[in-house]
Amino acid sequence: MQKNFHIITYGCQMNVHESEKIAGMLTELGYSQCENIAAADVVVFNTCCIRENAENHAFGNIGMLKKLKSSKRDMIIAVGGCLPQQMGKADNLHEKFPYVDIIFGTHNLHKFKEYLLLKQTRRKSVIKIEDDAGIIFEDDKPFRTSYPNAWVNITYGCNNFCSYCIVPYVRGRERSRKSENILAEIRNLIKDGYKEITLLGQNVNSYGNGTNDLSFPELLEKIAAMDGKFRLRFMTSHPKDFSEELAKVIAENPKICRQVHLPVQSGSDTILKAMNRKYTSADYLKKIEILKKYVPDCAVTTDLIVGFPGETEEDFKATLELVNRVDYSSAFTFVYSRRNGTVAASMPDQIPEEVSKDRIIRLVELVNTLTREHSKKYVGKTVEVLCEGYDDKKKMYLGRDEYGRMGYFENDKDVIGEFVDIKITNANGVSLIGEKV
Ligand code: SF4
Repeated sequence: MQKNFHIITYGCQMNVHESEKIAGMLTELGYSQCENIAAADVVVFNTCCIRENAENHAFGNIGMLKKLKSSKRDMIIAVGGCLPQQMGKADNLHEKFPYVDIIFGTHNLHKFKEYLLLKQTRRKSVIKIEDDAGIIFEDDKPFRTSYPNAWVNITYGCNNFCSYCIVPYVRGRERSRKSENILAEIRNLIKDGYKEITLLGQNVNSYGNGTNDLSFPELLEKIAAMDGKFRLRFMTSHPKDFSEELAKVIAENPKICRQVHLPVQSGSDTILKAMNRKYTSADYLKKIEILKKYVPDCAVTTDLIVGFPGETEEDFKATLELVNRVDYSSAFTFVYSRRNGTVAASMPDQIPEEVSKDRIIRLVELVNTLTREHSKKYVGKTVEVLCEGYDDKKKMYLGRDEYGRMGYFENDKDVIGEFVDIKITNANGVSLIGEKV
């Protein structure tokens, strides 16, 4: 009889790719992916604890499965990811949701298959949290669902300990995969027809640090030199490690997309220091200057946090000023989320909710204005997008250009996975509407 699985993923792209790895293990065991949770024999929640709302969302959804589980007792519910990896959270989860069958963390995700088989042979829940922060996954076979895009981990963990961030505590210290393994994986992906490769890591720029392997720019060059038409992206970069050499490599290799995501978080030096970001706003602007010197048309995107403990109106205005100055093509904006176990959680001067709300509204307004201005410049131009899907609501195909901007267009045949030239006729906020030429 056909066995099905359903995975619910929270949080960042790293988690999306890890869900592909969990899906790969389930596929090896003969399960098929299904859209309808009620039809699933195994349901996996791949959680995120980076922000409070992702955590609450996961708790809410796990809670909602209680009724389904009581009417379908054989269904296996698993909860993995960085939420259970946090100290004490696995027991907490087990107490709160005793009907959850498997609980595992980020460090032992590669053993999920083993835990599933174990659960099938016993009545008790399987709760396994390991603390091996040095592990590098190499032999996983992800069940990729994002064709023509493929995600490839190059580093795991983080050494930066930004004072607001839980990542170093739940994903361990930074370690890099061997370049020969990364290159082999990418060669196979290109052979299999993937057209866009995104290198993933918490801080990709420090790839290879402390090893005798390639540096990040050297790794990019090797990948960009591979045969075939494909695009190369990477995320996320830490500004302190963004080098001139990297800017030169982007400039010299047209396969590397002209889009760099460089999270600044704040424009205030006081707040950057309190965040332990290890750069000032002037250092950051210098990096942007270097990038633009070599790649003048490069689209720069960023992450911004408002309401960090101690943030004054003046600090916030410094953020607005920096956003204006860099002229980001788009940005992810967040209200500071207090995470237990981080340094910032015990800082005095936590900002009242209404102040943070007011600031995020003003920041989003500015970011949206800049984004709209960038979009308007597209109208009348022809851009090449890599078609990655079909939007059922809009009844249009969609794809990104090399600057990361999404374009929609009508077409009478399926062109998913193809590079398509579209002439932009309309710009709607962050998205573009065009006609195939
Ligand atoms: S660089 Fe800072 S924000 Fe990014 S994962 Fe590491 S600690 Fe977190």
